Amino acid sequence: MKFHVLTFGCQMNAADSGWLGESLKAMGWEESGVDDAQVYIVNTCSVREKPEQKLYSLLGRLAERLESDPDMFCAVGGCVAQQAGVKLWNRFGFVRLVFGTDGIAQVPQALLRLTAEPKLRLSLLDFTQSYVERESALPQAAASPRAFVNIMQGCDNFCAYCIVPYVRGRQKSRRAAAVLHECTALAQSGVKEVTLLGQNVNSYGLDASGDGTSFADLLRAVAAVPGIERIRFTTSHPKDLAGEVIAAFRELPKLCPSLHLPVQSGSDRVLKRMGRKYTSAAYLAKVDALRRACPDISLSTDFIVGFPGETEEDFQDTLALMRRVVFDGSFSFAYCDRPGTASIKMEPKVSDTVKSRRLAELQALQNEQQEAMLQRMIGVRKMVLVDGPGARRGSDDPAWTGRDEAGFVVNFAAPAVPSLAGRIVPVRITQAKKHSLWGEALP
Ligand code: SAM
Ligand code: SF4
Repeated sequence: MKFHVLTFGCQMNAADSGWLGESLKAMGWEESGVDDAQVYIVNTCSVREKPEQKLYSLLGRLAERLESDPDMFCAVGGCVAQQAGVKLWNRFGFVRLVFGTDGIAQVPQALLRLTAEPKLRLSLLDFTQSYVERESALPQAAASPRAFVNIMQGCDNFCAYCIVPYVRGRQKSRRAAAVLHECTALAQSGVKEVTLLGQNVNSYGLDASGDGTSFADLLRAVAAVPGIERIRFTTSHPKDLAGEVIAAFRELPKLCPSLHLPVQSGSDRVLKRMGRKYTSAAYLAKVDALRRACPDISLSTDFIVGFPGETEEDFQDTLALMRRVVFDGSFSFAYCDRPGTASIKMEPKVSDTVKSRRLAELQALQNEQQEAMLQRMIGVRKMVLVDGPGARRGSDDPAWTGRDEAGFVVNFAAPAVPSLAGRIVPVRITQAKKHSLWGEALP
């Protein structure tokens, strides 16, 4: 069977799709281009955009091909499937499987059944009480030296604007032994860097499904896995970032000096209405503690502008926080109403014009800060984990591309042989581009 996976959304969706693809290949299925597939798997996200429309227009485009051949069909998973559920069946006859994030472990077997029983339709939308372990589907030799490792599912925070707890269920931690087993297998296949993934990794282990291992314990245990040389994690909720985890940035050499710590707003009034359970002062205190523990730490964040009731003064507080922290990167979003969330009923809504203006102002400040930070890197020696060959710059020496300790993309020239893929190489930065750095390999 030829299959094609289409993914919308965050790293967690990308990691889920990666696992699904590998599992299907392990069953003997073949991954193909979008025009050759017999089975399509669409992994959806509904955190921000208007995903239903995006999904429906995609399914509309696939309809002509899928409706003409009864052996071909589509599976829809992720947030939109969780919300729209079996309604998708009524609208698109060729959608024969709908699955939520908790149902993903059973998807490969479900797809096998569907190929054998052409009249069957299946739904895997139930939330589970605990983390459902997936069958391992790791390739013998890793395609990349970097990999994502899921450590939990769902979220218990119910921030006022966020749909995640409704579509991904309550928080369920994965057993530490399973996480370590996967990290060990990844290291044996050639992976050097793991990113531990969850909606709120700092509360890992604190739910009923946890096995008593705290997130700091888990970091220490992953750092002890032979062959794993770099560890990252995402995402962190500021209220749950424990002192022990901050200390880990000083104590664990393998823990990369970078942290994504979403603040959302610099206004205490807005943070309260968002239900974030911290103040801007508490956030800044954590930033200061992180910088004391690890002076080179690279911090990035998420912002939402135009949350209901956000005034110009609130927005100025957000700009002030950004000036005070100086983030190396940030994602900023215009607030949008999501079905079922608390903020949908909050008033007054901020107009689209004001949201766009605030977003542009915030992003201009971020670009300014990021450009200055990249310029400061010129002349600095970085250790780059090489992903593989990258863009050339016209010289005879081929270029390689990888990531430095903080996670920035670094391109550099070095001979093609021996291959540097998967190695950690010293590089001196010689040039800063808009979103990446260029350098030369050091002996
Ligand atoms: N769990 C993470 C956290 O607490 O930061 C990430 C959650 S969400 C998948 C990623 C980002 O999307 C959030 O940090 C927030 O900035 C943004 N976001 C979520 N809901 C939103 C909404 N209704 N409107 C605009 N942005 C939203
Ligand atoms: Fe959404 Fe808040 Fe949970 Fe992040 S912590 S996933 S923003 S509810």
